[in-house]
Amino acid sequence: MRIHLEQIEEEPFRWDQSESAPEVVLERPEVLGMSDIHWSGSVSRASSGWRLLAGIDYVQTLACSRCMKPREERVDTELDLYLVVNSPQPLGGEVELDSSDLGMLALDDEVLETGPILHEQLELNIPMSTLCKDDCAGLCPHCGADRNDEPDCCAGDEIDPRWQVLKDLTKS
Ligand SMILES: [Zn+2]
Ligand SMILES: [Zn+2]
Repeated sequence: MRIHLEQIEEEPFRWDQSESAPEVVLERPEVLGMSDIHWSGSVSRASSGWRLLAGIDYVQTLACSRCMKPREERVDTELDLYLVVNSPQPLGGEVELDSSDLGMLALDDEVLETGPILHEQLELNIPMSTLCKDDCAGLCPHCGADRNDEPDCCAGDEIDPRWQVLKDLTKS
């Protein structure tokens, strides 16, 4: 979606739409799936810029970081951004605007592409690690079994690789 900021007068620009999850997010290995993204919001004039307010809601399915089991979670988040257009000339005496300031976005011109803003929000809502439950036991490093279901999968069966050679020899 492209919003022409210079056309916004008294009335804010509003939208309410759903779009499919972008490839870049779906390609992340921990993302197993994502519903359509529903978001609605408005952009209105605010002092020397514009203010974007939006609500974003969708369901994402993430892989447990330990056992890879899917875990579904609803994301319901809000976005409040102040938009300014970078002035080509330095503004004498005024505080310089820094796009890294929290909640502020500096644009090169008065056309706002909402795609990158939405993508960033989706990325931000993918946690560094996901657990299917707090005490997930993970996968067995020996046989790959899910230790939540088979806590004793390799119990008493762990064998030193050096002894394994001997065992193989005695078998023949
Ligand atoms: Zn797990
Ligand atoms: Zn095992």
